[in-house]
Amino acid sequence: MTAERINLLGLPLERMQKFCAEHGEKPFRAQQLMKWIHHAGVDDFDQMTNLSKSFRETLKQIAEVRPPEIVSQQDSVDGTRKWAIRVEGGGLVESVLIPEGKRATLCVSSQVGCSLDCSFCSTGKQGFQRDLTAAEIIGQVWLAIKSYDAFQSGNGRIVTNVVMMGMGEPLLNFDNVVAAMDLMMEDLAYGISKRRVTLSTSGVVPALDKLAECSEVSLAVSLHAANDELRDQLVPINRKYPIAQLLASCRNYIDSQTDKKRVVTIEYTLMAGINDQPDQARELAVLLSDFPCKINLIPFNPFPQSGYERPSGNAVSRFWQVLVDAGFIVTVRTTRGDDIDAACGQLVGQVVDRTRRAERHRQNNNQVQVVTVG
Ligand code: SAH
Ligand code: SF4
Repeated sequence: MTAERINLLGLPLERMQKFCAEHGEKPFRAQQLMKWIHHAGVDDFDQMTNLSKSFRETLKQIAEVRPPEIVSQQDSVDGTRKWAIRVEGGGLVESVLIPEGKRATLCVSSQVGCSLDCSFCSTGKQGFQRDLTAAEIIGQVWLAIKSYDAFQSGNGRIVTNVVMMGMGEPLLNFDNVVAAMDLMMEDLAYGISKRRVTLSTSGVVPALDKLAECSEVSLAVSLHAANDELRDQLVPINRKYPIAQLLASCRNYIDSQTDKKRVVTIEYTLMAGINDQPDQARELAVLLSDFPCKINLIPFNPFPQSGYERPSGNAVSRFWQVLVDAGFIVTVRTTRGDDIDAACGQLVGQVVDRTRRAERHRQNNNQVQVVTVG
């Protein structure tokens, strides 16, 4: 039965070697398997011609290479491509590929829904359904490359950067996310440099401390406010791990890296009248004055019933200017894939509010309803 097979797609090298050893195969078989799966995009064991026939037969019995299933694909006029992906059990997640010149950044999901309920995030409104497996996370990279026929054309490096900024809080799915990120960076898989794999977190401090001990990926932190009073409202996990603790943990992460030039990307979603005032930019500048970072401003991406608005271009510029004048490197995230709702916080189109607040208003809340907005 399919459910009992081991899905090789999500196995990092050591686990693949262990798997091979358990079946009496030499360690180099693991390397061959990895190359077939991740370099060549092959999911059919019969095509893995440099493996012995008997090993292939065994693999057909006990293993599989099974990515999650693409439900829909949408292309934006600006080249952004978005996939809705169904995972086992029926949940839906999305990934988005954003080409920029010679680079292309894939935004990957880590969970179906999210338990952290940030007030401005549509994923949070769905509540939490489940963690993605390592195969489902790395499967998004596999599917993106497949979608461009880039395995066949030998251009498997079409995905040059990966950001864990899709649905979910990656640090709450620690082991699977770390395994998938290891595969992204593994030469026998996607070979993306550690600087080009970025994990974004809303601030799960103990997990971030743990990450410092085992990973060298780039770090982005969703700050959104320069004081605890406001951040408590926008990012509820701040009540547990306030800003001072979070920044200390980020600094520890940076200090633990072998590459001493690393900085943290501070993400700051700008919401009109909430956190976009020049005074608030000054407060942010003071907070971060001594902190190794660059700042990425994200104008809020509206979704129905969010209760927030995107600030005007002028408000964004004013905020940006204050920070630049204070000496920071500041980027403003341009909205990509607007016509296909591919921007942050809009993933999986419109979803029914699955938070507890909404529970009492609903009769049938067993399923996330998805309206793919074309
Ligand atoms: N859970 C992680 C990663 C996923 S969210 C995190 O919170 O960091 C990726 C980024 O999109 C975060 O910075 C998040 O705050 C931001 N985001 C969420 N909803 C948004 C919206 N509606 N508009 C703009 N940015 C949003
Ligand atoms: Fe979860 Fe991130 Fe959305 Fe917050 S912003 S609810 S942590 S996905």
